[in-house]
Amino acid sequence: LLCFCLAASGKAEHVKYKDPKQPLNVRIKDLLGRMTLEEKIGQMVQIDRAVASAEVMKKYFIGSVLSGGGSVPAPKASAKTWLNMVNEFQKGSLSTRLGIPMIYGIDAVHGHNNVYKATIFPHNIGLGATRDPALVKKIGAATALEVRATGIPYAFAPCIAVCRDPRWGRCYESYSEDHKIVQAMTEIISGLQGDIPSNSLKGFPFVAGKKHVAACAKHYVGDGGTTRGINENNTVIDRNDLLSIHMPAYHNSIIKGVSTVMTSYSSWNGVKNHANHEMVTNFLKKTLRFRGFVISDWEGIDRITSPPHANYTYSIQASINAGLDMIMVPNNYTEFIDGLTYLVKNKFIPMSRIDDAVKRILRVKFVMGLFEDPLADDSLVDQLGSQEHRELAREAVRKSLVLLKNGNSADAPLLPLPKKAPKILVAGSHANNLGYQCGGWTIEWQGLGGNNITDGTTILTAIKKTVDPKTKVVYKEKPDAEFVKSNDFSYAIVVVGEYPYAETNGDSLNLTIPEPGPSTIGNVCGAVKCVVVIVSGRPVVIQPYVRYIDAIVAAWLPGSEGQGVADVLFGDYGFTGKLSFTWFKTVDQLPMNVGDSHYDPLFPFGFGLTTKPTKA
Ligand code: BGC
Repeated sequence: LLCFCLAASGKAEHVKYKDPKQPLNVRIKDLLGRMTLEEKIGQMVQIDRAVASAEVMKKYFIGSVLSGGGSVPAPKASAKTWLNMVNEFQKGSLSTRLGIPMIYGIDAVHGHNNVYKATIFPHNIGLGATRDPALVKKIGAATALEVRATGIPYAFAPCIAVCRDPRWGRCYESYSEDHKIVQAMTEIISGLQGDIPSNSLKGFPFVAGKKHVAACAKHYVGDGGTTRGINENNTVIDRNDLLSIHMPAYHNSIIKGVSTVMTSYSSWNGVKNHANHEMVTNFLKKTLRFRGFVISDWEGIDRITSPPHANYTYSIQASINAGLDMIMVPNNYTEFIDGLTYLVKNKFIPMSRIDDAVKRILRVKFVMGLFEDPLADDSLVDQLGSQEHRELAREAVRKSLVLLKNGNSADAPLLPLPKKAPKILVAGSHANNLGYQCGGWTIEWQGLGGNNITDGTTILTAIKKTVDPKTKVVYKEKPDAEFVKSNDFSYAIVVVGEYPYAETNGDSLNLTIPEPGPSTIGNVCGAVKCVVVIVSGRPVVIQPYVRYIDAIVAAWLPGSEGQGVADVLFGDYGFTGKLSFTWFKTVDQLPMNVGDSHYDPLFPFGFGLTTKPTKA
């Protein structure tokens, strides 16, 4: 190890920060003491992959790079291509005077979702329905391996929002409307980062090594509580509700050693989270004793003002003084660096604040071993989309399905379906569409349609694989009623739902299933016994159809392993999932959460019928 260097005097100097045997605080103090203001500010900057290069990393001492939603080195880039890109940036950082490694972050929010051929797990809403934190921990561990396979050590996950209104476009990123379920699901952090040692100091970040990644609890705080579920808006609740509904999962995350926390675009009672000193510095850092780093959201500080970026110098001052440590700039980094430098030099931001930020960033980097082992090798590339991970995703899909209705009376259930039947119909916009079943945050930020987007199994393909070879499967995306009547189908499976969306684009006031979903349901279910599988990021309006559908399954956004749906429909496994959200009757009831006085749901929180597996 290179911990003995030649000092100016010509004598060999023991460089403490480079010596892994030194205690963490000694290493941090030593390194901080050597850094210029320029080097410190660089650490606090996270830039987008598209503007990064080895030269930029070196010139500005940039501390971090990210892939924003769908920002990839090349379409369908291989794990090796990713890894080479990350290493290239890292080499730029390592060639600086002090050789401080950068940390690369990416939104791996349901598996390594930007990356071609990665395993795509169900979105969080489906995981909430499994009620299985141990499974979710395994998903975290598998995701970490896939992320590391591409040379990346940091994931912007989990989203621990407690979504209180399904009109919010990020509802599917939330495990539940109930904070206790969200708290339990922070177990994913132990999967992503590894289990924190029992003697660890409260609040300290922890990453177990090169098969794990730094996690990020987001978006702090109250992102799921905005009025009418409007994204990035204002959460109007008293302190008690904020602390009892939206804060507990942060507490759990900190106990598990979460390395970073991302602030929310939203406001709490009119105060932007990105500028809230009380919540970031006093509460998160002092009361909860969080010792990792706080990162902004993408252009999050710009949005402190309205319109965004109206007074960037003010935004920088307000956010850094509030306690943010790293800023996801992510493009105009010279403007940010110049602004922050000016503010520090003119004492609008105290040096002690900069030192606190840099210490926290260095702490995470030291703890995760980035100084000792900054470059990725290709030893994990086979983990990407491995069979083992796909099996795990398939299990998660099975456990996430919620059976809302099963026949018109308890003694005449439709499910599980028989594998042997003369002729069955599979219909609907979402039956044979891998992109739709993965939803937003898949390959592209907003998600995609189609089957060529990545590897996986559509629900139709899974059904064909599961039924008896003699069963004739007829697939028609949009059958009319005549077609259905004129055929002698034993039964039909209709798969409809929402089209992919992410963030504000997903905000919806009506929450209807878009056409041709409802007309397909009408055409098929009016004519033959049918099960409707709903692929959606949240509860949607189904009350008008419930009477004439024989069976209804909420499949959420299951991801790449559609086989899990067929496993349960045809009785290889039973239905076990429970609603982690209230299923409303009409949108004018919203917001409506379990415990509310006006609680009158179509299906209550916790609801889910069960079936027994059929014997082979
Ligand atoms: C989202 C974050 C995400 C970030 C980086 C933002 O638009 O709100 O959840 O981590 O982009 O892609």
